[in-house]
Amino acid sequence: MNLPFADWLPHQRWYAGRGRTLQTVTPAQTTRLDDGLEHVLLDAVYTDGSSERYQVFIGWDLEPQPEFAAVATIGAEGDHTAYDAVYDERAARKLLELVDRDVTQGRLEFRREPEAKLPVDAPARVAEVEQSNTSVVYDTAAILKVFRRVLSGVNPDVELNRVLARAGCPNVATLLGAIGSTDDAGSPVALGMVTAYAENSAEGWAMATTSVRDLYNEPDLNADEAGGDFSGESYRLGEAVANVHRVLADELGREQVPVPVDRMVDRLASAAAAVPNLAPHVPAAEAAFRGLGGREITVQRIHGDLHLGQVLRTPQAWLLIDFEGEPGAPLDDRRRPDTPLRDVAGMLRSYEYAPYHLIIDEPETTQTAQRAHDWADLNRTAFCDGYATAAGYDPRDEPDLLRAYELDKAIYEAAYEARHRPSWLPISMRSIARLLS
Ligand code: ATP
Ligand code: MG
Repeated sequence: MNLPFADWLPHQRWYAGRGRTLQTVTPAQTTRLDDGLEHVLLDAVYTDGSSERYQVFIGWDLEPQPEFAAVATIGAEGDHTAYDAVYDERAARKLLELVDRDVTQGRLEFRREPEAKLPVDAPARVAEVEQSNTSVVYDTAAILKVFRRVLSGVNPDVELNRVLARAGCPNVATLLGAIGSTDDAGSPVALGMVTAYAENSAEGWAMATTSVRDLYNEPDLNADEAGGDFSGESYRLGEAVANVHRVLADELGREQVPVPVDRMVDRLASAAAAVPNLAPHVPAAEAAFRGLGGREITVQRIHGDLHLGQVLRTPQAWLLIDFEGEPGAPLDDRRRPDTPLRDVAGMLRSYEYAPYHLIIDEPETTQTAQRAHDWADLNRTAFCDGYATAAGYDPRDEPDLLRAYELDKAIYEAAYEARHRPSWLPISMRSIARLLS
């Protein structure tokens, strides 16, 4: 195979090599799946010595829909042209059919969940929302997420969705199947995941932002009176998160461990090295973490990267999606049991982002800033109330612990914002100041 992968790859949205210089892209493994349909693993190597493995389903001589022609065209070899096959309806259906039939082809394993019904005849189309992966939606019935970066090890998204679906948890998109493989060392490799499509759903972040805008636009209302009052939803979202935590603990266990103070202090140190503005807060933050030394916490499997952008409201329920954990962390770290308070803290942070991202430069004294504060307060409280009701314990019972996890999250955010979205850095900085005051 002699395709111009090195020209095509850097133009893909999910390409992770920006900022480095790509040296070579080499096909490492090719698996024939059907006439004119292949699966290829690509090794991208950079001039700094780093490397990544990607996957692509290649379809030969397809006719992708015009709006996808540019992104889908990989290049020519002889008289034939190679395309990224997920953009082709017939090829996308073929992938679902392979899952439906539990096909093993070379090292690739297409697996349907027991009892799952796959919409093998449904119209298929790539969803254009994602950044790091590519998803194909089959009518309104199923969604296939193709992981673009290929990592060795158990993928927590597939793993936890499988556990939750098999336990009948109503607060996830039911897992219908998966595509996997093994690497040369025999470790599992996740390639894709099929879940039930959440029809007529709205993203939590979009709903929350709408509610905040309504409040800002009303001349004289309080947060709990605005047309878009979100607190009832926040309460139910708290219940949903607690349900998911309970199922994960029942199925995969809980244990007692000391608070990982050293890890928190290490994260603080590396964030402070990257964000000079954090320096004045370091002594107080370190003291807040060290103060937890010797305390025991209950840990279990959790979501790991929970925020309002990872929850979908269907007409029936709140769903948690994307159990991949904190992006960028090694797979083993993401699968380490952790306190449910980390997920709660993630949601609480998101409840500050939603009102404040719209008014980043607004002085604290304005009426809008007061409303932002009230909206966050009302919804954070409602979320914790809902969580406490469903979990049987209140995440606010140990305030210093919850505050430490919020602080840890805000510090991690500060490092992220400083690097990727400096204009949003003030949101994290004001929360860090508040949490330490
Ligand atoms: P990102 O890189 O942005 O985190 P991702 O590739 O990890 O994205 P997800 O976060 O799992 O993918 O999903 C991306 C989007 O696709 C969601 O925000 C949601 O709008 C939509 N989506 C995901 N799963 C479903 C589903 N089961 N039903 C309906 N829509 C879904
Ligand atoms: Mg995601």
